[in-house]
Order: sequence, then structure tokens, then C-alpha cells
Amino acid sequence: MSDCIFCKIIAGEIPSKKLYEDELCYAFYDIAPQAPVHFLVIPKEHIPSTDDLTEKNAAVVSHLFLVIQKLAKETGLTNGYRIINNVGADGGQTVKHFHLHVLGGENLGEQMINK
Ligand code: AMP
Repeated sequence: MSDCIFCKIIAGEIPSKKLYEDELCYAFYDIAPQAPVHFLVIPKEHIPSTDDLTEKNAAVVSHLFLVIQKLAKETGLTNGYRIINNVGADGGQTVKHFHLHVLGGENLGEQMINK
């Protein structure tokens, strides 16, 4: 999608600190990390959010999780990590291209939200 920042990152029109890429997905470090390790894994197909997943396009999500498993090992997240998917306004989603946050590198605790 022409005005999507993550589509532009995939296309190389906006620079990113790339971790991984294959035919289905792209992974890169978050520009404003909220943990010692914080990266994003996104489908190359422009899917705006979890609310836009369908029987036809949702298979990529399981692929993203397998890629995360591999990248977590490669980035040293051997003691665990957290995966976050923000959805819509109340979910705090700012970029309207489906993405999974992967955070770790320290003990993130048991509390899942900070208001
Ligand atoms: P969300 O709030 O779930 O939509 O997350 C969007 C994330 O994208 C935020 O954590 C931003 O820091 C991150 N972000 C925005 N622009 C860029 C960029 N150009 N490169 C890397 N990460 C970005």
C-alpha cells in the first residue's frame, strides 16, 4: 500500500535495521525500543490488523511465529521473550500494517500493561 510506512520499509524506500527476510515476511529492529531487544516481524502482504485476518490470508501468522522462534535464538533471547500484537485505537496500534512485537533481553515481569 503506497502510504504505509511498513510497506515502504519492505520495499527499501525507508531504511530499517533488517534482521531477516523471506518471501512472506520481513523482520527489523523497532526504531524506539522498549526493551534491550525489540524487533518487529511483519507480513509482506499489507494486512492492516488482526481484525483484517481471514481464512485466506491468516496462514502467514503461523509462519511469523516460526520466524520469531528462530530470530529469538539468533538475538540471544534464550531465557524467554514476549510477543505483542496491538490492534486498533484502544490496543495502541499506531502503524496500520499487521505486526508482531518481540521484546526481551531482560525479565519483563508478569504485568502485561502499563497505563
Ligand atoms: P504499534 O504501536 O503496535 O502500531 O507499533 C508500531 C511500532 O513501529 C512502534 O513500536 C514504533 O516504534 C515502530 N516504528 C515506527 N516507525 C518505524 C521505523 N521506521 N522503523 C522501525 N520501527 C518503527
